[in-house]
Amino acid sequence: MAEQPGGKPLGIFGGTFDPVHFGHLRLAEEAADCLDLTGVRWIPSGQPALRDTPQVTARQRLAMVRLAIAENPTFEVDASEVDAARPSYTVLTLERLRQADQCGRRQPLVLLLGADAFAALPGWYRWQSLLELAHIGVAHRPGFPIDPSRLPAELAACYGERYCTDRSALAETPAGRIASFAMTQLAISATQIRTLLASGCSPRYLLPDEVIAYIRNQHLYPEH
Ligand code: ATP
Ligand code: MG
Repeated sequence: MAEQPGGKPLGIFGGTFDPVHFGHLRLAEEAADCLDLTGVRWIPSGQPALRDTPQVTARQRLAMVRLAIAENPTFEVDASEVDAARPSYTVLTLERLRQADQCGRRQPLVLLLGADAFAALPGWYRWQSLLELAHIGVAHRPGFPIDPSRLPAELAACYGERYCTDRSALAETPAGRIASFAMTQLAISATQIRTLLASGCSPRYLLPDEVIAYIRNQHLYPEH
């Protein structure tokens, strides 16, 4: 994309959020600070492309994200994927965001990924097109070191070419660079929370109380 950049970068944070938890929230909050973002747009997936159908509906996952970020003016929700008839491919999401009535072509976008998701990128649909549409901001995640010698070769090569250490580089162009940030390490996963709930154990302090109340009221993730 040979466009001139326009303004501070906007963070784009997609995920299954089944359910949303404090690892997600700190990732978005610290990305905003570390990468000097104007805000973070959360995009819950409808039908995740690379994993089993979640136990709860996309609308319920969306509702939990809305509850979790309600008090944060830097965060916004994009509900467009939730009812989509097709699987949620990130490259198609970014193409949608690049349309003139959305972010347009000049706004720098930073696709936010945890290190596990980043390492798996070569399995994503048209993954090499992602960097034509957005930068990538990779958050450190416990158990998933960002070690180029352990990344798939084509991803390691891409990382070597595009990695930048200076966050201001993300505002200089709309897309194409990779940055990383060492967020507070939280070994929290949605899988762990689903396992706790299925076993009748408390998930408290791993995710917002409002989200736990919603899970209880809607009888999500039942004990078995
Ligand atoms: P699951 O266990 O169901 O895969 P998850 O906790 O990994 O859930 P996802 O919705 O799969 O959550 O992740 C959305 C994004 O958030 C991904 O890019 C993932 O790497 C990142 N992420 C999730 N939890 C953390 C965490 N604790 N630290 C850093 N990144 C995280
Ligand atoms: Mg995950």
